[in-house]
Amino acid sequence: MFERCVFADAVSTYEDARFVIFGVPFDATSSFRRGSAEAPDAMRKASYNFETYNDFYGIDLTSVPVHDLGNLDLSYLDLDRCVDDMLCMTGDTVRGAIRDSKVPIVLGGEHTLTYGCARAFVEQYDDIGIIILDAHLDLRDEYLGAKQSHACVSRNIIDDLTDRCALIGVRSGSAEEYRYAEENGIMWHSADEVSDAGMESVMRQAIDALSDRGARRIYLSIDSDVIDPGYAPGVGNPEPFGLDPRDLRAAIRMAAPQVCGFDIVEISPGYDHGESAILGARLVREFIAAKSARQK
Ligand code: MN
Ligand code: MN
Repeated sequence: MFERCVFADAVSTYEDARFVIFGVPFDATSSFRRGSAEAPDAMRKASYNFETYNDFYGIDLTSVPVHDLGNLDLSYLDLDRCVDDMLCMTGDTVRGAIRDSKVPIVLGGEHTLTYGCARAFVEQYDDIGIIILDAHLDLRDEYLGAKQSHACVSRNIIDDLTDRCALIGVRSGSAEEYRYAEENGIMWHSADEVSDAGMESVMRQAIDALSDRGARRIYLSIDSDVIDPGYAPGVGNPEPFGLDPRDLRAAIRMAAPQVCGFDIVEISPGYDHGESAILGARLVREFIAAKSARQK
């Protein structure tokens, strides 16, 4: 079954597919726990755990046309130097999906790759906003000598691509990052805000603020460390006091009608017993169901 491991129920041809899944097995700038390169296949394997029927939406995922392109072949890259190549390959694949009127779903890999996805969407749509769920601000100017690093991804998106970017679930950053956020009016919401006010309220604020800046469509990026490490221990940089899995599901359900691209990154499967990959796979399936149910 897993010789060429495809995501469960992703049995459509590319031509007929509405959703296109692909993996980016890249973890070269990961600073604490590497291993997210293994996550795309770990999520694919975990995806076979679930029933095809989603009772919330009353939709069977076997009826949704999904294609799995497999993983980008990064084997020939010198991974310590070729972040830009990875970003180009990721962006090209996303660009192709957009051109073909499909919704790309990207399985990371480390968070760095989101820049390639966001760049493709910003080039294509002038009404795209980015929502990033992350424990970390990722607003560093550079990290360990690299500008394209997982610790800089939000900074690079905001500096280079668009100010229509909101961060949700934050509970970690350097003093400089918090100062940068303050001085530059970065839209961010803490994990405590989500806990106190509820995800629906925080997402509504973020979507409305993005809308005020002209965003009608949303690219949604989930850095898995936004989830509390009690639920998702296998991540690159675990950070306590995080979100409940239901918060992620609520965010996906709320945003799905506007979401035209999705990634889930930073799962590091070697550091748990499969919990994080199982949750990641389930969130992908929830997104497919939510997007299919709301926009036929
Ligand atoms: Mn991140
Ligand atoms: Mn993070």
